[in-house]
Amino acid sequence: MFDVLIIGSGASGLTMALNLPSTIKVAVLSKEKLSEGSTIYAQGGISAVLDKSDSFESHISDTIDSGAGLCVEEVVRHVVENGPTAIDWLLNAGVPFTRVDNNIEGSAGLHLTREGGHSNRRVAHAADASGEAIETTLLSQIKSRSNIELFEFHIAIDLITTRKLRHKHKNNRCVGAYVLDIKNEQVRTFQSNITILATGGASKVYLYTSNPDGASGDGIAMGWRAGCRVANMEFMQFHPTCLYHPHAKSNLITEAVRGEGGRLLLPNGSRFMDKFDKRAELAPRDIVARSIDHEMKRLGIDSVFLDISHKSKEFLLEHFPNVFAMCKKFGYDLSKEPVPVVPAAHYTCGGLMVDQSGQTDLESLYAIGETTYTGLHGANRMASNSLLECVVYGQAAAQEITKQHQSQQNKPFEITIPDWDESRVTDSDERVVINHNWDEVRRFMWDYVGIVRTSKRLKRARNRIEMLLTEIDEYYANFRVSNDLIELRNLAEVARLIIRSAQQRKESRGLHYTLDYPNTDTSLEQVNSILDPIKR
Ligand SMILES: Cc1cc2nc3c(=O)[nH]c(=O)nc-3n(C[C@H](O)[C@H](O)[C@H](O)COP(=O)(O)OP(=O)(O)OC[C@H]3O[C@@H](n4cnc5c(N)ncnc54)[C@H](O)[C@@H]3O)c2cc1C
Repeated sequence: MFDVLIIGSGASGLTMALNLPSTIKVAVLSKEKLSEGSTIYAQGGISAVLDKSDSFESHISDTIDSGAGLCVEEVVRHVVENGPTAIDWLLNAGVPFTRVDNNIEGSAGLHLTREGGHSNRRVAHAADASGEAIETTLLSQIKSRSNIELFEFHIAIDLITTRKLRHKHKNNRCVGAYVLDIKNEQVRTFQSNITILATGGASKVYLYTSNPDGASGDGIAMGWRAGCRVANMEFMQFHPTCLYHPHAKSNLITEAVRGEGGRLLLPNGSRFMDKFDKRAELAPRDIVARSIDHEMKRLGIDSVFLDISHKSKEFLLEHFPNVFAMCKKFGYDLSKEPVPVVPAAHYTCGGLMVDQSGQTDLESLYAIGETTYTGLHGANRMASNSLLECVVYGQAAAQEITKQHQSQQNKPFEITIPDWDESRVTDSDERVVINHNWDEVRRFMWDYVGIVRTSKRLKRARNRIEMLLTEIDEYYANFRVSNDLIELRNLAEVARLIIRSAQQRKESRGLHYTLDYPNTDTSLEQVNSILDPIKR
């Protein structure tokens, strides 16, 4: 029995764990090795108002501007105003952010970059491997905490709730999770007073993605099945620039390359972004991704090109050592030539609905990080605001849970949880079904629910996903669980949530663009697409 069960060991889960007092007994789960997740791949950095010439009002207004009318101002203010404290906390934890001057201590000495949508330099970074610096620093801290037990290669299957157990508690309460210990092929029960979903996003639902394989939306699907509402799932962000190469998987080229003057070119060497937006290459991501998609479809080309060869090799090696090395590995020299790039699914703006402490609709269930809808991103996330959201909400949730824990004087919720029942399942003799369905979901999501949508394509996608979900549910009921099956079941559920939300939105806004309703409906300001599992 744990006081707190944290499912996920990315920036949000680790921040939360480290902000709980040592008197609280914590379990942190990770379905792969602890460091694996989107956090470690983040390149650009984390935004916060740190420069004298910058202001909270400017960061707030840039965020709201990117969010295309759907940001919740109070939430944006909460996150932005907590930004400097979040950076100080990371610095104190030992994150080696890049500095302009080693003699100036604290955040005042940090080198700040500028990214799309930001009107000031406000992105703190560790060269171009910011996520790795954050993840490895927090992990090294966590390993020295005796109140925290770490379980890697443990994948949560589903949440356990009082409603599922037919327990007569007045509200539906989360009491833990069933978890597959992948290495021992055994399902374990993790009972907890408080459970936190910190499971990251769902971009793996698309064929091309910058995200690691585990981004299958597990937390969103588990929360939804347990009874939580989700919001704004149609707003999936596509990163405009992933390296295009047959052997390059998920190799993103950070937006900071465009921030430092990188230009997007057609195969004939001409620029095109200024035709679509006066901010050209520094327009928000949705506009850049859609413009590239438009040009690729118009010209029937496989990619466009990103050119920063006007900068010296020394500059590129200093600012983008990892991107430089990655391009080199695939035969491109950033300092000499343009590199081919395509858009890829990158960030899930919607998710489980939470309040400012990360509390979901379910008693004792919290959610933090990319798995949530907080109201910060609206219809489009501004670059580098997501790591900030992870840290601010990780800290806020920890504070709230500590308060509750102290007021309840550590009294555990009394309930007996039955073991996972495998008596009616057998080992699968048809694993091909899993692989086939994985591929099918990701391909039709790319073709029908991608950067540019239509009502007809969404209807086609909906028909297919309903059919696949029936097949997957049948498979799940009959065969022993495996991590592939768990992820496929979640991926398909999240695909359905994305399609349903996209079908609800009869306009184009932010990241949702449909040819049938190409304009923004201004009478719909502040209308989120909320799906409620109780109403289905
Ligand atoms: C290539 C790339 C570059 C990015 N660059 C930036 C950037 O510069 N700035 C920025 O702000 N954002 C950036 N982002 C986005 C940002 O990195 C993520 O939004 C953020 O790291 C998410 O953190 P998280 O804690 O929510 O989840 P993650 O870091 O994705 O961690 C998820 C955790 O949950 C675990 N998990 C998932 N499902 C289960 C399950 N069923 N059971 C057990 N464990 C589970 C995983 O094992 C993992 O430990 C980038 C993302 C990518 C992919």
